[in-house]
Amino acid sequence: MGRKTTEKVGDVSVQVEYKAVKHLHLSVHPPEGTVKAVVPINTDSEKARLFIVSRLAWIKRRQRAIADQPRKLPPQFTDGESAFLWGKQYRIRLQSTAGRHHVKTKGGWLEIWVRPGTDRRGRQRTLRRYYREELMRETPHLAQKWEKRTGLRASEYKVKLMYTKWGSCNPDAGRIWLNLELAKHNRACLSYLILHELLHLQIRQHTSDFKALLTKYLPTWRSIRDELNNDFPGLPIRE
Ligand SMILES: [Zn+2]
Repeated sequence: MGRKTTEKVGDVSVQVEYKAVKHLHLSVHPPEGTVKAVVPINTDSEKARLFIVSRLAWIKRRQRAIADQPRKLPPQFTDGESAFLWGKQYRIRLQSTAGRHHVKTKGGWLEIWVRPGTDRRGRQRTLRRYYREELMRETPHLAQKWEKRTGLRASEYKVKLMYTKWGSCNPDAGRIWLNLELAKHNRACLSYLILHELLHLQIRQHTSDFKALLTKYLPTWRSIRDELNNDFPGLPIRE
């Protein structure tokens, strides 16, 4: 555990922890919207403060999203609600089936086919399974494209729901994890994430070399990253 302090940045108080990490990392946590910063041990405190200031708008957006959560009913995955798939907004229509639960899109509708009486959790499970199938369908050809271009190869690509990041990479195992909720964003976001995690097989940290490689293979990566970090729907919030 490193040294801990609390810093006031504007009207936001930030729990700052100095640790043996390479990069400054900010996060906002439910239920109170607590802001935490993990800072490399030798960072000048003014430099850390300036970084936090530069991310203030993002911090406030995350805090607002978290604060809005309890007042809003959690999604019910039922008629009339909206749902996203590959960057497009659909309206949910519940359909009943005696068979296997499944999802299909039809025009602007996203139909959730479930047995009558299926509860909210069951509907959510059905939608999540659909997102997983969609991601697993889109991932292989994108992975193949980036592996061919970069000469890097992952041992496997897996999908799980994550609350704090869009993807991760275990360079030792060569395994890449993709956030289930990437299925809500346009395919360019998934493509970028695959490239990003693949490059971590070569460079673990977000160094300037890492960023230069991203730029070499995907010059528009910054706008895609910003879209993922700023736009709706953002990272899922723990229920
Ligand atoms: Zn990364």
